[in-house]
Amino acid sequence: MSYINENFLNLQESYLFSTIAKKVAKYQEENKDKKIIKLGIGDVTRPIVPACIEAMHKAVDEMGTQEGFRGYGPEQGYEFLRKAIVENDYKKRGIDIAEDEIFVSDGAKCDCGNIVDIFAEDNKVAITDPVYPVYLDTNVMSGRSGKYDSKTGTYENIVYLPVTSENDFKPELPKEKVDMIYLCFPNNPTGTVLTKEELKKWVDYAKENKAIILYDSAYESFITENDIPHSIYEVEGAKDVAIEFRSYSKTAGFTGVRCAYLVIPKQVTGYTKSGEEVPLNKLWNRRTCTKFNGTSYIVQRAAEAIYTKEGQKQIKENINYYLNNAKIIKEGLEEAGYTVYGGVNSPYVWLKVPEGLTSWEFFDKLLEEVNIVGTPGSGFGPHGEGYFRLTAFGTKESTEEAIERIKNWKK
Ligand code: PLP
Repeated sequence: MSYINENFLNLQESYLFSTIAKKVAKYQEENKDKKIIKLGIGDVTRPIVPACIEAMHKAVDEMGTQEGFRGYGPEQGYEFLRKAIVENDYKKRGIDIAEDEIFVSDGAKCDCGNIVDIFAEDNKVAITDPVYPVYLDTNVMSGRSGKYDSKTGTYENIVYLPVTSENDFKPELPKEKVDMIYLCFPNNPTGTVLTKEELKKWVDYAKENKAIILYDSAYESFITENDIPHSIYEVEGAKDVAIEFRSYSKTAGFTGVRCAYLVIPKQVTGYTKSGEEVPLNKLWNRRTCTKFNGTSYIVQRAAEAIYTKEGQKQIKENINYYLNNAKIIKEGLEEAGYTVYGGVNSPYVWLKVPEGLTSWEFFDKLLEEVNIVGTPGSGFGPHGEGYFRLTAFGTKESTEEAIERIKNWKK
């Protein structure tokens, strides 16, 4: 008999995006003449920049020649890309990361999900609430949560750190001791950030409690303010306690190309039950060599091209395009009287829904009365209730039109 991993039965169906899709399809079917504008998506829409496309073409051609052909590459990523990462993402910011502390992959989602392999089942996990759901669900799958409580919308044994307007979207240190802490800044879904000093609190906590910080900086390229760290390693001591996730998905429009990387400094350690310290870099390297055969050569050449002068200039144009959309959304909503967060160092704008409405009620009104689609905050966790996410990944024209509709909305 084959027994299943029963932890999977403990997962809650994620109805968020499928419910949105169903509601939108039904509304459009019944109102064929209405032009719906979608500001709910978390996917990019601008084409991949020429520098990356050229690099991919060149790599494809190489693959068709005897001299240029590549088979399996290094599981951890090609040296040319790991070097470019070290030089550009770290050395230029005064951070000392070695090439063998970088692991290139096919996505931060997989990395965030797979990392749980190297941690014991009885670690106590802390996540922010609301949250990018991958951190929670992958820990439920691997048995780190207790049962789901439908009354509170939370799992037993998971420590939820509320991030709401009451604490200015800055999670407070947990009251009980935790072992694995997921932090994502700039945050999805709230679009908010932490300063170096605010992050330092977490690094100090992790040191004192021998905990690990799993830091997702998938949106670092959207940071516009000077005092906001792009990497957790800008914070003193973080190299001892933090793993960092990076992705080219939003940085360079690679959501369909698939390339990301993970950083595990060699001094980051976990413990055996007998108290022996074990470097996590070594464990992750072992896991990678056993379960992964490397990111495609063609894709890694495309990622390398992001760091060229042309590549940097071109991706920045796209990022600025999205940031301008974020500004249009933020300022337009403020003019219309909404309380708005995020959107300055992030493609996400997080707004408070009008008094008396739930996130889903606001979703329905927005769809039916002004034909705009966003994402209800409650879909990201119980403390997302009363909030709503709009994204800057649409076109400038549709973003402007959506905001005009909201400004002229007679409620
Ligand atoms: N981390 C966060 C916070 C995200 O919002 C996303 C995608 O939306 C990812 C990771 C996934 O990145 P990737 O496309 O590299 O898998």
